[in-house]
Amino acid sequence: MCIFCKIVAGEIPANKVMENEEFLAFHDINPKAPIHILIIPKHHVENFQSTPPELMAKMTPFIQEVAKKLELDKTGYRLIVNNGEDGGQEVMHLHFHMLGGAKLSWPYLAIEEEAKKYM
Ligand code: 5GP
Ligand code: ZN
Repeated sequence: MCIFCKIVAGEIPANKVMENEEFLAFHDINPKAPIHILIIPKHHVENFQSTPPELMAKMTPFIQEVAKKLELDKTGYRLIVNNGEDGGQEVMHLHFHMLGGAKLSWPYLAIEEEAKKYM
């Protein structure tokens, strides 16, 4: 069972923000912004690339509700999905990072030596 499936099963504790039958939102253990939430489907899906559109149709309003609950709908936020190796995905269970609580920077993100490959 993957680490997020263990959180869904209650085998690993998490600081939950919101949940319904199908989705769960909880605080990231290593926040990259004042507010850093992970939003996942309870059912295991490996990554965004393999996510069926029907799941996204239901996940979108859940993500919007999480933003409202944290009042980020008013101030703004960033959603990030790391997909696969170059995307830096470490946990192979679909998750959206919701970042906010401050104005966020928007740096050039490629690792320099890696980026040279494409120059
Ligand atoms: P990824 O790099 O796969 O997009 O992001 C995985 C995220 O999961 C990271 O931001 C990391 O801090 C977070 N994370 C990893 N293990 C745990 C955990 O056990 N609990 C919580 N709350 N977050 C975790
Ligand atoms: Zn999983």
